[in-house]
Amino acid sequence: MTFEVKILGSNSASFAFSRHHTSQLVNSNQNLFLVDCGEATQIQLLRYQVRYSRINHIFISHLHGDHYLGLIGLIFTYQLQGRTDELHIYGPKGLDEIITTQLKYSDSRLNYSLQYHEISNGNQLLFENEDLKITTLTMDHRIPCFGFVFEEKLRKYKLNRDILPQHFTKEQLMDLKDGKDVIDSDGKIWLYSDLTTPPNAPRKYVYCSDTRFSNSIIENVIGANLIYHEATFLNEMQARAETTFHSTAQEAGRFASIHNAKQLLIGHFSSRYFDTQPFLVEAKLEFENTVLAVEGHTIEVLPIQPIKVKEKHVEVINR
Ligand SMILES: [Zn+2]
Repeated sequence: MTFEVKILGSNSASFAFSRHHTSQLVNSNQNLFLVDCGEATQIQLLRYQVRYSRINHIFISHLHGDHYLGLIGLIFTYQLQGRTDELHIYGPKGLDEIITTQLKYSDSRLNYSLQYHEISNGNQLLFENEDLKITTLTMDHRIPCFGFVFEEKLRKYKLNRDILPQHFTKEQLMDLKDGKDVIDSDGKIWLYSDLTTPPNAPRKYVYCSDTRFSNSIIENVIGANLIYHEATFLNEMQARAETTFHSTAQEAGRFASIHNAKQLLIGHFSSRYFDTQPFLVEAKLEFENTVLAVEGHTIEVLPIQPIKVKEKHVEVINR
């Protein structure tokens, strides 16, 4: 199942060196979720040939302009293109009012339904379908700011059709897929572990928006397959990172390390830096498996390993 992150914007406060404001596209089994929507997001969606009419859910981490100023443009573009599908927007208090005011003073009425969901705290469930759930994290920033945890659900066991007996009922097949043993009409116990292949462990992608670094462990982040963490500054500006409620690349690496992540993605680079390679070098001081957010690149949220199955044993019940 597809689970990947496409980088649309990788820079902080202002455009620089062909880098744009923060935005990412998360693809979970062909459902597209837009995460933050900086000013040039529409242009980036076009540049990377994303069919953005398929985006039905947009998540805004906070109301600093480099994270949401592209949103109203996208809302109007959808209107011009004749969108009819519902659009769900998730963001902190105030964003609803900003959107409503812009629509009001341009005397615009949308042809599609825009559903606003206010984020008020960390660990808030925002979205859920059969593949995935999305919850919030509280960031340590100058204004209310939230991260997002994209967490896959445990998938069903796959039936091994080559060795599967023919006499099972539909219900028994469902039980096997759910990881339950079944008893046939002769009283024989069939172990799901003999007849199925285990699914991969559910994957987790954690998006940490603007934040000051903290040594505290966030339970819902532990063991993430991929963490995105902002890295606005290099170590030389650690004091400034602290006072502006941002992080350095090395701090991003430490965050990934203390949370036992599998991979780290860093971005939100300050416009004062032309070359982003030093960010990689500094993050790797703490966490080796780090990659830079590069616009247009897609990073797969890699699986770890199949989940463990019970010890195999065979039993026959005498009736
Ligand atoms: Zn910010």
